[in-house]
Amino acid sequence: MQAQPIQRVVIVGGGTAGWMAAALLARALGKAVRIRLVESDEIGIVGVGEATIPQIRHINTFLGIDEDDMLRATQGTFKLGVQLNDFGRLGDSYLHAFSDIGLPLGLIGFHHYWLRERRRDPASDLWAYSLNTQAANEHRFARMEKVGDTPLGGIKYAYHFDAGLYGQYLRKRCDPAVVQRTEGKVVEVRLREGDGFIESVRLASGETIEGDLFVDCSGFRGLLIEGALHAGYESWQHWLPCDRAMAVACARSEPLWPYTRATARAAGWQWRVPLQHRTGNGLVYASAHMGDDEAAATLLAHLDGEPLGEPRPLRFTTGMRRKAWQRNCVALGLAAGFMEPLESTSIHLIQSGISRLLAMFPDRQCDPVLVDEYNRQTRFEYESIRDFLILHYKATERDDTPFWRQCAAMDIPPGLARKLALFRGHGQIFREREELFTEVAWLQVMIGQRIEPQAYHPLADALGTAQLDGFLTDIRTLVGRAAASMPDHARFVADHCRAGDS
Ligand SMILES: Cc1cc2nc3c(=O)[nH]c(=O)nc-3n(C[C@H](O)[C@H](O)[C@H](O)COP(=O)(O)OP(=O)(O)OC[C@H]3O[C@@H](n4cnc5c(N)ncnc54)[C@H](O)[C@@H]3O)c2cc1C
Repeated sequence: MQAQPIQRVVIVGGGTAGWMAAALLARALGKAVRIRLVESDEIGIVGVGEATIPQIRHINTFLGIDEDDMLRATQGTFKLGVQLNDFGRLGDSYLHAFSDIGLPLGLIGFHHYWLRERRRDPASDLWAYSLNTQAANEHRFARMEKVGDTPLGGIKYAYHFDAGLYGQYLRKRCDPAVVQRTEGKVVEVRLREGDGFIESVRLASGETIEGDLFVDCSGFRGLLIEGALHAGYESWQHWLPCDRAMAVACARSEPLWPYTRATARAAGWQWRVPLQHRTGNGLVYASAHMGDDEAAATLLAHLDGEPLGEPRPLRFTTGMRRKAWQRNCVALGLAAGFMEPLESTSIHLIQSGISRLLAMFPDRQCDPVLVDEYNRQTRFEYESIRDFLILHYKATERDDTPFWRQCAAMDIPPGLARKLALFRGHGQIFREREELFTEVAWLQVMIGQRIEPQAYHPLADALGTAQLDGFLTDIRTLVGRAAASMPDHARFVADHCRAGDS
């Protein structure tokens, strides 16, 4: 029993973060709490953020959302992973696929057997054992939990969608008796005397909205967490040097690829996200190495279809808020930090921030023990994602531009250095605590970007050569057959979740 339960939650911001927070908090907390969401049409939303990772599917389960219905409403498609081109060397290409690779055998992971095999056959392809990759290469898709009645895991997928439509979709699912939306601009944040908790926000209309708990979803500006509470921002620009983006949509092209594409460019990288009605594109770049005009020209020169408008510039500083929870204010989304979209982690970080807030839901005192724990867990999550992203820049042999030479030469955080040493020396990867990216994710980026292990686990030698051959051939065959049995991705979308169909 809480002494002073929270009864009024105020969310400032109606972008993806604001509406995800409203929908999930309303569902979890029910009518015991009233939620006010304030958003400003004049300011608008950032409006990019079209690629996701598989954890987003838990939201559907929690909110009782029918997946096909959501995809119809958001022009959505399916995503099997991210294809990374030209990162290790110009001409390189690999998929960071969401599914498992192969099958662990005995005490050790599959990749140790594959590393042994590769000593014999240097052309042996790790991704021949990845169901998602085999399906993606042929632009196929199906919902497949496992491969027939074998122990091989099935397809793991996420979505591409129009982020603006996704926010609106969640908004429609909010019970107006629990979530009250107000259009208006917050012009003042009032703090309580004594403890400095936020007491209320005042709108341009003159209305004052009081609350017990404030959720700052106001985007990069961090109106409450920074503007009023000065939580501080830790920049990671020395590790993640891109600080600008240009985004433009173009006409849809064929085939409908079931993956995000990220292609390294002279001073950054370019994304391609296939939706039903158009393709989203953007160039993420470092302003120290590339001007805005050059960025726009580079972006437009590499589109698969006619541009649907002018490139839209965005600026950011990679990093995180020093304290995402301060007093009675929790920042989510861009207000909490931003690490660039290379692995589509931002929407996931909103989701995990909300889950963490619910797990530690406070009373009106906001006990500092809870606040500290929230901030500690948030930092761990951000830093482990940060290290994974840095790997994409650091593991390069490119020396064709000053940007890539800088990336190859940069110092890296100790946790990443440890991971690289373990893999280089022993082919070992260990997932730390609850870090987001699993061993198989790290494996694909390290192998895909040419990090060569000198050894593999000694137990991989326990298998006879014929047994190893049989084991690997069986998996390749099963994976290949399962992928070939799937329909074309465009066909699957048309049959199950075509936008406009009811
Ligand atoms: C270039 C780029 C690419 C990205 N790609 C991806 C991706 O592929 N996948 C992914 O997961 N994420 C991606 N993201 C991140 C994603 O866009 C954001 O995490 C997500 O959109 C959440 O944004 P937000 O709701 O925090 O902020 P915003 O969308 O900026 O919303 C802020 C809200 O606050 C309101 N507001 C602000 N000030 C006031 C005020 N004074 N009064 C009232 N209301 C106010 C605004 O009106 C708006 O409603 C990308 C981001 C960028 C910059």
